[in-house]
Amino acid sequence: MGHYIGLDLGGTNIKGGLLDEAGTTVAQRSIPTESHGGPGHVMDRLNTLARQLADDATLEWDRVDGIGVGTPGPLGDGDVVLSAPNLPGWKNVPLGAGMTERTKRPVAIVNDADAAAFGEFWTGAGAGESIQHMILLTLGTGIGGGVIINGKLFSGAHRAGAELGHVIVEPQGRPCGCGQVGCIERYASASAVANEAKRRLGAGEASSLTSIDEVSCRAVFEAAEAGDAMALSVVEEACDKLGTTCVNLVRIFDPQMIVFGGGMAHAGDALLSRVRATFDRRTWHVREERVTLTLATLFNDAGFIGAAGMARAELGA
Ligand SMILES: [Zn+2]
Repeated sequence: MGHYIGLDLGGTNIKGGLLDEAGTTVAQRSIPTESHGGPGHVMDRLNTLARQLADDATLEWDRVDGIGVGTPGPLGDGDVVLSAPNLPGWKNVPLGAGMTERTKRPVAIVNDADAAAFGEFWTGAGAGESIQHMILLTLGTGIGGGVIINGKLFSGAHRAGAELGHVIVEPQGRPCGCGQVGCIERYASASAVANEAKRRLGAGEASSLTSIDEVSCRAVFEAAEAGDAMALSVVEEACDKLGTTCVNLVRIFDPQMIVFGGGMAHAGDALLSRVRATFDRRTWHVREERVTLTLATLFNDAGFIGAAGMARAELGA
């Protein structure tokens, strides 16, 4: 049976797991990235973690069939990481070559949002033969996204994948870190929800949320559930824009399932029911509804699981 290691490279920690052919996690652990050490040191850390995982699973190193690394930032030709804002010194880093040299095993490099989508598809919310077309939206600091078509990750003509967080929903809207304005992640990410509540508190709106410093996405959702009018309005705006975005995604991709992950998805039905309400209002009803909107099941583990799954898909027999 094949064995694949998946590594999820984050700015603070590297999460990793060793999975078998069937997608069962045999070993998992996480270590600090130590990103201050620069790209070479971080690649050493990735290699160290991979070898620890094989030890944990008492698997001989040369029986590891492939290693997948999910990395932030855009990828260029030859598995070069063009830039990664949360990793100091990462500009045009040859991650694929660096990891192959260190590990002496076959390596697959994948965008981290794509890896998470593939993880949810392989063993999470979309697991099972029946789902072959799925979209993941990760609602965190920004919005990450990945698209699975016919059981395969859609990576686009230029490996830019699906930058679903930068779908423009308000052409005259809020400035986005990407340089554009009005991107969905400025309205419906966990950070956007917290920031909008803070802005409205700062503008003097009445609310049960009194301390601006303590306003988190979770606090806004809790206040909304408790009947706070300002919090409810922030939550409803975010869910409305997200529901509209889902309709647009369905128009383009015709998926069977849209999955919500990331911190904001922990709001559960408070999120899902509102997104569904907008979706139902704006979608066509000429045929019976065939798209399931649902919550992620793997959350923080989706990245390493998907990276292992991508290694299996790209490198496996
Ligand atoms: Zn943007």
